[in-house]
Amino acid sequence: MSGECHFCHGLVLAGEPEHIVLDGHGDHEVYMHERCARGGEAIVSDRRENVDVTCPECGAVETTRL
Ligand SMILES: [Zn+2]
Ligand SMILES: [Zn+2]
Repeated sequence: MSGECHFCHGLVLAGEPEHIVLDGHGDHEVYMHERCARGGEAIVSDRRENVDVTCPECGAVETTRL
């Protein structure tokens, strides 16, 4: 499964490190590179393996693995 980064429109491959895929909420999937999410201030908190990311589509906060 792959998609376009919300920020830079580059290719994001699900399951790759440093790629963030939000697919567990709503009726949409959002793909982001970790660096783009950080640059776009979508990452609201950072833990060891998980990050909280604000979905740029709907504004919901999702916790996801890096
Ligand atoms: Zn990107
Ligand atoms: Zn969303």
